[in-house]
Amino acid sequence: MFEKILIANRGEIALRVICACKELGIRTVAVYSEADRNSLHVRFADEAICIGPAKSARSYLNVPSVISAAEITNVNAIHPGYGFLSENADFAEVCEMSGIRFIGPKPAVIRLMGSKQRARSAVAAAGIPVVPGSQGILKDADEAIQNAGHIGYPVILKAVAGGGGRGMRIVRSAEELPPLFQQAQQEAAASFSCPDMYMEKFIAAPRHIEFQVLADEYGHVEVLGERECSIQRRHQKLIEEAPSPCVTPELRAKMCDLLRNAMREVGYTNAGTVEFLMDEDGSLYFIEVNARVQVEHPVTEFISGVDMVKSQILLAAGERLDTCVPSPLTLRGHAIECRVNAENPVTYTPSPGRITAFNVPGCVGVRVDTAAHADCVIPPYYDSLLAKLIAYGRDRGEAIARMNRALEMFIVEGVDTSIPLHQRILADPDFLAGNFTTDFLSRFAANGARTV
Ligand code: ADP
Repeated sequence: MFEKILIANRGEIALRVICACKELGIRTVAVYSEADRNSLHVRFADEAICIGPAKSARSYLNVPSVISAAEITNVNAIHPGYGFLSENADFAEVCEMSGIRFIGPKPAVIRLMGSKQRARSAVAAAGIPVVPGSQGILKDADEAIQNAGHIGYPVILKAVAGGGGRGMRIVRSAEELPPLFQQAQQEAAASFSCPDMYMEKFIAAPRHIEFQVLADEYGHVEVLGERECSIQRRHQKLIEEAPSPCVTPELRAKMCDLLRNAMREVGYTNAGTVEFLMDEDGSLYFIEVNARVQVEHPVTEFISGVDMVKSQILLAAGERLDTCVPSPLTLRGHAIECRVNAENPVTYTPSPGRITAFNVPGCVGVRVDTAAHADCVIPPYYDSLLAKLIAYGRDRGEAIARMNRALEMFIVEGVDTSIPLHQRILADPDFLAGNFTTDFLSRFAANGARTV
């Protein structure tokens, strides 16, 4: 087992990894930017090293700085969290070359999954249905028009290296395509240093459903059920739940079987999430694999009883899957997560600043993952996630009731938050009926929630 782990991240996920390490008796090293000097992850780690200025390109994304910190502190492994370097295959390779275990899949698998278009081909070959789309990278707008002709409009242009909902454009006709192709390419080049585009059929009003995978290095793969992530703003998730209100036990069993085989076939190890869109007929189509821990992993932890982050560490240390996941695995109850962002709940504009009052809810079935506290400053340089509020219940109704009282008792003053938006969503009859798709929020104009 590892003796010491460096956490190449900040905020709530850095604290989450520290919790897992403490339980496993592993010492921790925090890295931080100058803006995060007073953060809780710095306080609760055994050691901490400043790796550069506030801008993430010069600190949390700076590979030489992170690796130097790991070498100086003599760690055995690095946990990358999510975002930042978590899906950077080059970084994973540099870690391995420096004799430091990267806590995640092998670099070659991260690289494969990092190209959404290559990942599509690989899982399709392993028997997973994918959204109909282009083969290979689209050379230019003409080739895109040709492909769209075969697929049928509307289509969605997507960045091969995409993430966070960027580099995507919905195209409804051939006339619209050339300018949108150019825009999407530019956005992809600016965001991911890679302008490559591919194309999928645009599925009207789908549901976003994803399956959680854990795999060891000896060919054992387990699927810990699914999460429903259709409540999104600007293609980014806002509320997630497990299980999905629309996945039947038969569909779940079929998908878990398919995925166990497919992920074994592609040589997947450690934790990963396989994302699908569900169309109106209830068919699921693969869109991508996230080769890391997800923001929304706590809902799966509640229903499965499996500690996802501890599992990642144990699997990276070469433990077998049965040390992390009980056999047989039973999924029980219902969990919901609200992402509480420091942002205007109507315009979604980030709202950094000093938190003047902070009360975290608790009581039965409620969990809060956050690095925020009273009098802390939310810096403007990073994502706007302030806290994850997770509620668990015997069934969906109880989880929602607990979430409602927790939202009411969650006090954050000094910055705007998405709490009022969550409260409106949780009161919506369609949400309560489990009847919603990814365009839910754009149609949700009640009480001043703007259309997007
Ligand atoms: P990213 O990696 O940027 O998050 P994804 O491929 O995971 O991108 O897609 C994010 C969201 O965009 C999905 O949850 C869905 O709402 C929408 N989306 C992606 N592909 C399609 C598609 N083919 N048809 C309709 N909506 C899509």
